[in-house]
Amino acid sequence: MKLRYSEAFYSVQGEGKFVGVPSVFLRTFGCNFRCMNFGTGETKDRWTLHKEGKKYNDEVAELIAKDVHKTTKEFNDLPIIHTGCDTYASIYPEFKHFNKLAEVDEVVEHLLSLTPEGKWTMDNGQDIHLIMTGGEPLLAWQKLYIDLFEHPRMKDLKNVTFETNTTQPLHSEFYEYLNTQNRFEVTWSCSPKLSVSGEPWETAILPVVAHQYSTVNGSDIYFKFVVATADDFEEVTRAVEAYRERGIECPVYLMPLGGRSEEYNLNVKEVAEACMERGWRFTPRLHISLFGNAWGT
Ligand code: SF4
Repeated sequence: MKLRYSEAFYSVQGEGKFVGVPSVFLRTFGCNFRCMNFGTGETKDRWTLHKEGKKYNDEVAELIAKDVHKTTKEFNDLPIIHTGCDTYASIYPEFKHFNKLAEVDEVVEHLLSLTPEGKWTMDNGQDIHLIMTGGEPLLAWQKLYIDLFEHPRMKDLKNVTFETNTTQPLHSEFYEYLNTQNRFEVTWSCSPKLSVSGEPWETAILPVVAHQYSTVNGSDIYFKFVVATADDFEEVTRAVEAYRERGIECPVYLMPLGGRSEEYNLNVKEVAEACMERGWRFTPRLHISLFGNAWGT
C-alpha cells in the first residue's frame, strides 16, 4: 500500500500547543470536508454554499475553469487562495496528480532528508516533532501509519501530532497500536469545524470521536478552533460544552481566521481578549508572520 501526500516540509510549528517547535510536516491527500465558506464573509447563512450544492468555492472553481490544474507543472507553483480550504490541492481530486504516491520506505527517506541531522533525535538531545496533517490525516491512511512508525529509521521519533478535524474514528488496529506502543508521545490537535467553515454542526462536532482519541494511552488532546467573528465565540462555548458532556476536559485554543497577514491582523486582538475573558488560550499563526502564506511552511 502506498501513501498519497501533497507535501512534506521542515518548519517550526506555527499553531497550538507546540508553537515554535521544529517539526517535519507530512501533508496527506484527501478530506471529508471542503470548508468552502472560510474567508468568504458569509455571516447570515453560512451554509449557503452547501445548500446550493456547490462542489467548489469560487476561487477553486475559477482555477479549474482556467485549467490551472492542467497547466501548472509543480505543486509549489500552484496559486495560494484566500477563501475556502487553504490546502485545496490536498483535498480536490482535480489536483490529485500534484500529490506523490509513495511506498513507506520512500516516505521515511523523504521525511528524514528534511531533518537537520537525518534523524529525529539530534546529537544535542533535542528532538524533531512529526506532524501528520492534511487534508484530513486520519481519513485513509491509518493502517499504513503503523508501518510508517514501525520503520527501523523511525525508532528515535519521540513526538507525533495529528492535526485532525476530529470526525474520523480510529480503526481498531490503529487504536490498539497507539495504545500499546510507548516509544513516542501522541498529541491530538483537534480542530473541529465551526459554521464559519461552512460545514454543518451535525457532521462537524462529533464528541464521540474526540472521546475515543482521548482514551489512547498516554496521549494528550487539545482543541483548536478557527474563529472569525464574535458569534463564533458563542459557538465555541457550545461545542466545548458538548465535548465536556462526553467527558473531555482539555485546553481550548482559539486561532484567528486568515491565511494572509492582512486578514489575520483583522481580528487578532478581539480573539486574544475573548481568550482572556473565558480562560481559553490564544494561538497565533506563527508561520504567517514568519513566512507569509506559502506552501511548505
Ligand atoms: S477540514 Fe481542514 S483540510 Fe479539510 S476542507 Fe476543512 S480546512 Fe481543508
